[in-house]
Amino acid sequence: MVELLFLLLPIAAGYGWYMGRRSVRQEREVHRNRLSQRYFKGLNFLLSDQPDKAVDLFIDMLAVDSQTLETHMALGNLFRRRGEVDRAIRIHQNLVARPSIGEEDRRLAMLELGQDFMVAGLYDRAENIFDELKDDPEHSQQAQEQLLAIYQHTKDWHQAIKVAKRMGKDRPMAITRALSHFYCQLAGLALDKGNSREALKEYKKALDVDSGCTRAREGLAKLYRDGGQLEEALAVLVPVISTDPDNSSEVLPVIADLFSRLGDSEGYYNFLAKAVSQDSGVSVVLAYADLTQAQAGIGSAEALLLDELKRHPTLKGFRRLIQYQREKVAEPSAKESLNLLAELVEQQIRIRPTYRCRHCGFSANKRYWLCPSCQQWGQIKPIRGLDGD
Ligand SMILES: [Zn+2]
Repeated sequence: MVELLFLLLPIAAGYGWYMGRRSVRQEREVHRNRLSQRYFKGLNFLLSDQPDKAVDLFIDMLAVDSQTLETHMALGNLFRRRGEVDRAIRIHQNLVARPSIGEEDRRLAMLELGQDFMVAGLYDRAENIFDELKDDPEHSQQAQEQLLAIYQHTKDWHQAIKVAKRMGKDRPMAITRALSHFYCQLAGLALDKGNSREALKEYKKALDVDSGCTRAREGLAKLYRDGGQLEEALAVLVPVISTDPDNSSEVLPVIADLFSRLGDSEGYYNFLAKAVSQDSGVSVVLAYADLTQAQAGIGSAEALLLDELKRHPTLKGFRRLIQYQREKVAEPSAKESLNLLAELVEQQIRIRPTYRCRHCGFSANKRYWLCPSCQQWGQIKPIRGLDGD
């Protein structure tokens, strides 16, 4: 009897194996049937002109594993770029929640999800994500840049300063520039409250971070000037000619005023002579020509201007040259022609924008510290060249 039982064992094992295989096959069959049902449902949506429902169904059908992860990521990014942020969020959230994907992939999906939230304007949720990623060596730079963008958008300058400082001395120049502008923003807020002592402190911090920050120099100079410290104001403003020559025309009127209040016409003349030699734009040349005209006559001023126009032709310089010519001619018809020419040049100058972003090319007739187009700080400056300064 026992021998018989031993004989039956292989049969039982064989039966078990057969049944097991059958049930796996059946399961696969059921899964396949379910998939094809959903696939046809998706196709039906497409055919009945309901592509949104079809896309959602196909997304759900795509199982997340190491082989399809990249497809999910690419799909999510595609949706975000197309402005379909809800779908992008759903895909990336789905990835982050999957226990089956590795930690590295999960963090990558989090980075994408954070960007989805940014695009959707859900800054608090984006902040939570980037805050978690800011210590990750792989993604810290990107996470911190996104945090900066959030604090900049929400005007939380203290937090923005914290993040920018945390990036250390190796941070990109654009971040250093931004950091000095964050201090300038705080200075502006202090001034709004009438606290000029606090504003002075913030402007100085801005200059410590970036000595080329013209905004901080202008702010400091104004505070010094209002406090009667004219020489201090000049000392902080004059270096703009070297640190940020593109902004020379912006600071020139204040510098002229300071020298005038100090009664230092010789100092002003020397300053202009130096600025002209440093190619600081046509505004400086015109101011220099004005002084030359007052001291040595119109002929000397014209010669100076002609020399400058040969090297750097500008409409503004040309306009002044016409004015000189007009004063010299006596014949009415020649005067009339010059008037017409002056009017044409004037029209050209008037229709041209005054400022342009050095980073993205955005042009404006108003000065912005933060470019509305590319969100870079301190890049909108007076236009240089033929049409500009
Ligand atoms: Zn820009």
